[in-house]
Amino acid sequence: MTETNGTPLHDLVQSWEEIQDEYDFWAPDGEHDRTVLDCAARLAADPGAGDAYVWVLGLTMMAPCTNRSGVGSRAEAEAALRAADAAQRVRPCDHDTHPYESHEGHHADAALPDLLLRIADERAEWYEQDHTRETWRCPRNVAGFARIALDILRPGEVDDVPPRLSLQDREDIEALEALLELYPKAGTDVADEIASQGGYLYHAEPAERPGRLQVVRAVSWHAVSGMIQDRSVLDRLISGVEKVLPDLAAATCDHAQHPKLSDHSTNAAELGIVLSSPAGRRLYERNPGHYGDGAPLEQLVCPAFMADVARQTLTELRAGRDKLFSPRDTSHLDAEYLRADGLLDIEKITDRLRNVSWNERYADELGLWAARRYDRLGRSEDLGQGLERVRRVRERAVLLLTAHQAMTISYPAPPYAVARDILAIMRTAAAAPRPERCAHTDAHPPLDAGDFRDGMPHFYAPDEFPPAGGAHSVQAWTCARFAGTVAEKCVGALENLYGQDDEDDW
Ligand SMILES: [Zn+2]
Ligand SMILES: [Zn+2]
Ligand SMILES: [Zn+2]
Repeated sequence: MTETNGTPLHDLVQSWEEIQDEYDFWAPDGEHDRTVLDCAARLAADPGAGDAYVWVLGLTMMAPCTNRSGVGSRAEAEAALRAADAAQRVRPCDHDTHPYESHEGHHADAALPDLLLRIADERAEWYEQDHTRETWRCPRNVAGFARIALDILRPGEVDDVPPRLSLQDREDIEALEALLELYPKAGTDVADEIASQGGYLYHAEPAERPGRLQVVRAVSWHAVSGMIQDRSVLDRLISGVEKVLPDLAAATCDHAQHPKLSDHSTNAAELGIVLSSPAGRRLYERNPGHYGDGAPLEQLVCPAFMADVARQTLTELRAGRDKLFSPRDTSHLDAEYLRADGLLDIEKITDRLRNVSWNERYADELGLWAARRYDRLGRSEDLGQGLERVRRVRERAVLLLTAHQAMTISYPAPPYAVARDILAIMRTAAAAPRPERCAHTDAHPPLDAGDFRDGMPHFYAPDEFPPAGGAHSVQAWTCARFAGTVAEKCVGALENLYGQDDEDDW
């Protein structure tokens, strides 16, 4: 086994492998830097030496970590690798091929520690089918690996080694995949991560635009799903697409057809990032079937095709932004939820307050309509007299419960535009004065699981509907303390969703 200034090679390789495995979690630390610096110094001392392969492969293993640190060791590593490339690549040899030419990406890097020990030890078993120990040690191969390490350190600068995704691209893919699968990595700011994709497209060079556009397309579904509650996220995605569309719009092509892009957001995002760098596009061309449907690269980035993708993405993003953030008109719902005689269509409302999936489509608008009507009736000086007054008081109790329960049903969550208006009304309701004690002796109608629904038709229109569900007293239904509780619950849920600190913006 090779001795290296007293340290057995085995121990050195072990320390390098630890750094290789850990780069993902690693924050700059002196010990790692010293290990890289030591390896670089050994190579720099004699970059043309016969054992330079040891140090070159060591630096290759540690390159991701060295890249990340951006401090101390990176400049020394680069200088040593450039010197080794210059000294070794000019040596003549009889080999047709060298291992570095087929060394594909970070998966192949994982085999390097074991391989290095076998290359150095003539007595070790040799498993490599395609290349001998000797071709691994060949100066041209050593120079090739020096360039591979440089490619990891400086993506895009070296072009005669197998393409690989940059560390940054791999991390972006992982972060987006996790986010789109709804398990964002710790420390990911979801809104910011999605909005950034719009910024990348906005600033992309022409060659990177097809890839960046496909990433925006992939994240746009998540962005309009209702899970993003920050309007600026959609604004940034939209402005990215708007920026590139005019240049694409004029494009024509004679392709008989264009590829089918994946509708799986994670696959679509990955392919988009792959297409966003020269190395990624070379990678795609080497193995088109690995990503997407295997279409030729030039069809996948065809400007005429991209114009269609941009238009469609823009349409979806704009529609989503309107739906989520534009003020909603609910005046048409009077016809939906009021009867011809002006009374609430209590059966229909009660039915739509059942927490079942098919009611999700009504929930946002019903809730908003009910909250606004509740608010309007409360502001009106004239609640009427006698029977009319009784009817109005009951109606307000029903409307408040309706708004609250509709927000519970809303899926995945009430859009900002809906939540903003309802929250304002509910805050006022929650702040209204309440008596110390209830004026009734029975319990309030049950809020949990919307069980109050059972008794609501009878409470609202006792002449039309028989009593059901515990038959709470009218005083319990119309109790100011009950109303305060309902409003408070609703405020709590909506504030939880959108944060409390931006109250002033609302
Ligand atoms: Zn050779
Ligand atoms: Zn085309
Ligand atoms: Zn009460």
